[in-house]
Amino acid sequence: MPEWLALFYAEPIEIVSGGGRRVTDAEGRTYLDFFAGILTNAVGYDIAEISDAISSQVKTGILHTSTLYLIRQQVELAERIAKLSGIKDAKVFFTNSGTEANETALLLATQFRRSEQVLALRNSYHGRAFATMGITGNRGWSASSLSPVKVSYVHGGYRSRGPFASLSDADYVAACVDDLRDVINVTTSGDVACMIAEPIQGVGGFNVPPDGMFGAMKEVLDSYGILFIADEVQTGWGRTGEHFWGIQAHGFTPDAMTFAKGLGNGLAIGGVVARGDLMDCIGANSISTFGGNPISTAGARAALDYILDHDLQANAAKLGSRLITGLRDAAAGHSVVSDVRGKGLMIGIELVGPDGRTPSPAAAARFMEETKARHLLVGKGGLYGNVIRLAPPMTLTEEENEEALAILTETIAVVDKENNA
Ligand code: PMP
Repeated sequence: MPEWLALFYAEPIEIVSGGGRRVTDAEGRTYLDFFAGILTNAVGYDIAEISDAISSQVKTGILHTSTLYLIRQQVELAERIAKLSGIKDAKVFFTNSGTEANETALLLATQFRRSEQVLALRNSYHGRAFATMGITGNRGWSASSLSPVKVSYVHGGYRSRGPFASLSDADYVAACVDDLRDVINVTTSGDVACMIAEPIQGVGGFNVPPDGMFGAMKEVLDSYGILFIADEVQTGWGRTGEHFWGIQAHGFTPDAMTFAKGLGNGLAIGGVVARGDLMDCIGANSISTFGGNPISTAGARAALDYILDHDLQANAAKLGSRLITGLRDAAAGHSVVSDVRGKGLMIGIELVGPDGRTPSPAAAARFMEETKARHLLVGKGGLYGNVIRLAPPMTLTEEENEEALAILTETIAVVDKENNA
């Protein structure tokens, strides 16, 4: 296995079974899971409706046919996502991952606009292929600078450490809009293909821009005919609580959205939903052999039904707001925490050194170990690896939320004490 395949924890764990929001490792230790396989096990573990849908497909004897043949559940899932997207005359193409979804969206936008120029946010993460690495604004995840697209980075990503950090929401939005206009004028030839953005940056540390910011940017983009792609790989399917898609907090419908992670509740599925004319602009053949295969679409259809039938979005809103309030209370008076931010069940805790400002990846590493010791799994991210990321399955219960909050409260105090020792 490559050295660059990083594992969590000084002593990595092997997860061998799970149920609901809990997983058990090979040593028999059980954990409450607040990272859910990187926001992917959106519904949770051992969900009968999803397992049954997968088993029924397995029982037909067909694991794969390819897109050369009709796949009923793929067509039905596409219709459902097209409708949920709110995009006019929407069409859907399925892939196996978020990377491929974003590569596809970039292919569509660059072909449609006949331009290789792309705008992305600083501190973004969009994947690990050449175009998606090319639009990833985070050195820690840029394994190569080779890129088929010419990217210009704009502000609006990592607000709390950017040059506009001290501004009010309204002034921050105005500054980001001015920066966008400036970047288009000074670094592009004007005929840019698209802007792509995560409504809330995921890998970048759950950075939340002010509501409406992307809508204000869209007005500038519209004046040039530049398309907008929302990367909903982390923010989709109700995770942000207040909306089904993260971009809805910004008051407009994008030209395309990309998705993956939560849709399959762990099955390999991603895709793009785009305006019909944009989707159909490709002149050559293009297929994904495995994309939208019978197993992943059977499971994804069941997962999506579950999310909608049980209104997991409302649960994410309710429990997320309790969690963020509880965490802010817990962080008060503890200088190791410089920020608690997020929406719904997507919450980041930024950790800093004794000066209250310098990013502390060491404190984040300690936080990981201390939560693990208390049987809670959390995630980590951010440009400096100093942001703890909380994103449990959206079926989380109130009792489990309180259990995690108590552990997190204790952990903040322990890490703070060590930090100031
Ligand atoms: N976009 C975003 C916002 C992501 O968070 C990720 C994965 N972390 C990707 C794209 C890439 O997805 P995948 O790892 O499935 O290729």
